[in-house]
Amino acid sequence: MGASVIEPELKALLGEIDDVDVVYDAEFGAMTTYRVGGSCAAMITAKSSAGLGKLLGLIAPRPIYVLGNGSNTLVADRGWDGVVLRLAEEFEQIEISNGLVRLGAAVSLPIAARRLAAAGVGGMEWAVGIPGTIGGAIKMNAGGHGSDTATWLETAELYRFSDGRYRLQDVTKDGLALRYRASNVGDLDVVTSATFALTSRESSELKQKINDIVGWRREHQPGGQNAGSVFVNPAQDYSARLIESIGMKGFRLGTAEVSSRHANFIQADPGGSGDDVFELIWMVQQRVEKELGIRLRTEIRLMGFDPERSRYLKGDLSDDSH
Ligand SMILES: Cc1cc2nc3c(=O)[nH]c(=O)nc-3n(C[C@H](O)[C@H](O)[C@H](O)COP(=O)(O)OP(=O)(O)OC[C@H]3O[C@@H](n4cnc5c(N)ncnc54)[C@H](O)[C@@H]3O)c2cc1C
Repeated sequence: MGASVIEPELKALLGEIDDVDVVYDAEFGAMTTYRVGGSCAAMITAKSSAGLGKLLGLIAPRPIYVLGNGSNTLVADRGWDGVVLRLAEEFEQIEISNGLVRLGAAVSLPIAARRLAAAGVGGMEWAVGIPGTIGGAIKMNAGGHGSDTATWLETAELYRFSDGRYRLQDVTKDGLALRYRASNVGDLDVVTSATFALTSRESSELKQKINDIVGWRREHQPGGQNAGSVFVNPAQDYSARLIESIGMKGFRLGTAEVSSRHANFIQADPGGSGDDVFELIWMVQQRVEKELGIRLRTEIRLMGFDPERSRYLKGDLSDDSH
């Protein structure tokens, strides 16, 4: 796989950019929390804003997939024949000043929650149980425990892709149209950092809240290899309840299983198959639709699978072009 998406001239130019690492035929599935699935044509890691700017100037308008921590991403066993972009180093910075907090897009949500709590800055405790990054949280409007990204976000800095090229912009929360597990951050846009307006609180109180959330997650959600909830909840109901009601809790297909602890989680076995997970997601979606007349929509980004079934699983609300 792979040589076709990056021609030799571009390969040479990419090799010359400072703070940018390129690995061809790189592991992709292994970089997700599912830890299944194949490789990508190239994995490019940008470690500074200057490097990222140059990289995007060269790579546009080729499609890229921006990978955070891969906690909402499933990769097919045959892999994905495209360029995966990761952010590191300069994008992992946390800056705290007077309640306004600036977080790099590659900052891990659990690390942010704990660091802010230790500094007596409240609001982001809910993020401790979500194993993603700030960039992924903005794109998905991640949330839980009665809060979400939209509640605290002020602005995001991002490279917006339009008319064939990238432009660096500061966009307010309203300009990002954050809503239930969605935003208008496009699939080719790259979030680089975000500012959050948080509140000053007692550190001990925040740490207690974090411990409570971690305890709740341990009790109610499975560990192992998964991407959290597979389907967004339909209006006025819960996907887990619907899946359980048709008797699919604990259902196994090859190396994938509907969790017997939480029916909206699908687990992969160690050394398992991305295709098995996909087939099981498909089977659950089809059976819920057939038996209950409700069309569940997956929130997981599906990379390298049958495009028609992937589009169907993502539903009409998705603007994903992969
Ligand atoms: C155990 C577990 C529990 C979870 N619980 C929750 C929960 O309670 N609530 C919840 O909302 N989610 C939950 N999730 C899902 C997931 O963690 C979130 O959706 C998270 O926000 C994804 O972040 P990520 O960096 O891992 O994204 P990825 O999987 O890496 O990417 C997801 C999407 O975000 C885009 N993206 C990532 N980084 C950037 C960037 N810098 N710029 C532009 N786009 C970007 C990707 O292109 C992709 O479209 C859970 C997952 C797991 C494994």
